Amino acid sequence: MIHPLQKGVDLTPFCTFRVGGKARFFYKLSATDIIAATHFAKERCLPYFILGRGSNVLFDDKGFDGIVILNSINYLARYNGAISVGAGYSLPKLNAYLSKNNLSGLEFTCGIPGSLGGAIYMNAGVGKDCIEQTLLSVTYFDGICIKKEDRKNLSFWYRGSCFQKSNAVILQAQLKVYPSNDVKDKIKQFFHHRKQTQPYNLPSAGCIFRNTKFESAGALIERCGLKGLQIGGARVSSQHANFIVNSGNATAKDVLELMKTISATVYEKTKHQLLPEVCYVPFSL
Ligand SMILES: Cc1cc2nc3c(=O)[nH]c(=O)nc-3n(C[C@H](O)[C@H](O)[C@H](O)COP(=O)(O)OP(=O)(O)OC[C@H]3O[C@@H](n4cnc5c(N)ncnc54)[C@H](O)[C@@H]3O)c2cc1C
Repeated sequence: MIHPLQKGVDLTPFCTFRVGGKARFFYKLSATDIIAATHFAKERCLPYFILGRGSNVLFDDKGFDGIVILNSINYLARYNGAISVGAGYSLPKLNAYLSKNNLSGLEFTCGIPGSLGGAIYMNAGVGKDCIEQTLLSVTYFDGICIKKEDRKNLSFWYRGSCFQKSNAVILQAQLKVYPSNDVKDKIKQFFHHRKQTQPYNLPSAGCIFRNTKFESAGALIERCGLKGLQIGGARVSSQHANFIVNSGNATAKDVLELMKTISATVYEKTKHQLLPEVCYVPFSL
């Protein structure tokens, strides 16, 4: 289905931070119209930004002066020991499907509110488990044509993937899964742990900084006594120090200033340099 291009769309409902201005153009992408969408952008020399579930982005208060392409490729097909899943498919929905069908392999992603495409781009994960370990292949649009690549030909690292170094749009992936009877229990445990340790009731973008090699960002921020620190409507969560929550009326400027204060304080007190995990999207690229 070809979706209509929309103008001046408010971005706040499309990101979990609930922060940001308007997109000059907004396009809801299904599998067939990706080439049309990127051509539209190229012909007008407009930058485009691929959006999944918006759970790791911080849009600028001024919005985005280009096209935001919302990935809504939302299908799932099962065959032999694998599933083929559209990149816009949400991880919570995927976990619900796997739990219902007693299929194991992705339980660690339960509670990550992203899309499969966003999870591959970020190599999302928990502890030592990352999405890369579940992949058989990824299909993507590289700006010229659609390609399918086996996992072994793609590179991944902590919260990173080769897709961060290209302008590719992830369209779908094949994931390995296997039958198991304890999927529901595992998911319940993972989710329970999340709710105990993370501020699930307030808008955020999950962990705001990447962990360092030596210590988790949360531990460093907590050690510096920054829990509860607030700038405007952005606050360091008192439940998990590596979460910045939107306490109601936060702006992107508040969040960015708070991030700056946190990393300066952590560097001054511990000499560890924190790097952002959240993807800040400036007004113009
Ligand atoms: C409450 C909460 C808990 C979280 N817990 C975790 C956690 O445990 N582990 C973890 O790793 N993360 C966690 N996150 C962060 C976030 O959910 C993940 O990074 C997730 O994978 C992002 O997916 P998304 O679809 O929301 O991506 P978005 O936020 O929409 O986009 C993130 C980046 O991916 C790019 N992108 C998205 N889709 C595509 C595509 N199809 N093709 C190319 N590029 C694409 C975007 O351009 C952007 O640069 C959490 C977030 C929240 C709010």
